[in-house]
Amino acid sequence: MNFTAAKGMVLGATAYAEADKIVQIYTLQLGRVRAIVKGIRKPKSKLASSIDLFTESTFSLHKKASGSLYVLGQAKILNGYADLKKDFLAITTLQVLAEIVSQSTPEGEPHTEVYELLIETLDGLKKEPQSSELLLIAFVLKLMEFLGYPLELEVCGECGETLDGKKVYLIPHRGGSLCENCQGSGSNRFQVTPMGLEVLKKLRRTPIDRAHVLKLKPMVSRQILLTITGYLERTLEKPFRTLEYYSKVLPLEQL
Ligand SMILES: [Zn+2]
Repeated sequence: MNFTAAKGMVLGATAYAEADKIVQIYTLQLGRVRAIVKGIRKPKSKLASSIDLFTESTFSLHKKASGSLYVLGQAKILNGYADLKKDFLAITTLQVLAEIVSQSTPEGEPHTEVYELLIETLDGLKKEPQSSELLLIAFVLKLMEFLGYPLELEVCGECGETLDGKKVYLIPHRGGSLCENCQGSGSNRFQVTPMGLEVLKKLRRTPIDRAHVLKLKPMVSRQILLTITGYLERTLEKPFRTLEYYSKVLPLEQL
C-alpha cells in the first residue's frame, strides 16, 4: 500500500460502522483531510490517544483510488498538548477553534500559514490561558486574511474615509469597519470605540504570542468574537454549533 506521512492535528471524530471512526485532521502537507480509523472503538486500540482533539502527530495516511477519504494506518504523537485539556472550559475553547478550522478550510488544500497559526494559537492558549478569548479573536482575524476574507479595519469599508477617532461600526458582511454615515440600519452590526478598533488592528498584525498584552473589555470581546464568527458562518453557509455552548459555559464575568 502507498502511504503518505503527514504532520497534523485531529479536529474531531465521529463513530463509523461497528468499531471505526472517521476523523478530521488538519495536516501541514495535505490540508484538511478525513480519514477512517479502523478498529479504534475496540479496547486497546493503539491509535486512541493520537486521535485526541489537537494532539499533534505524524500520521501515516493511505488514500483509496476513489473518493477523498483516507485510511489512517499509524500515528506517532509529537505533542499531546495535555496542559490545554485540563479543564472543560479550556476544552470548550479548543472545540470552538476546531470547529472554525474544520468549517472554514477547504478539504485537501494545504496551507502552511494556517497550520503555523494553529500551532502558535495552541502555544498561546497554553502560556496565557486567561487571554483565551482574545487569542481566539486574533486567530479568526488572521485566518480570515489567509483564507481571502479580510476585514477592512483601516478606513470605512464603503466610503474609504479615515476612521481615526470616529464612531465605528463593525459590519463584516459590508466589508468590515464602517463610519457612522455609511452604517445604515439593520442588525449584525456592533459599535466599536476608536480604542477597540485599534486593538483589533493590532490583534491582526501582532504575532499570536504577543496578543495577550492587548486588552478588550469582556463584553466587547464577546461581541467581536460573535460578530466575526457570525460573518464566517453566513459566508460559508455553515453553522458553528460550538459557539452557543461556549457563550454559556464561559460567562462574561470570567473573562
Ligand atoms: Zn463611510
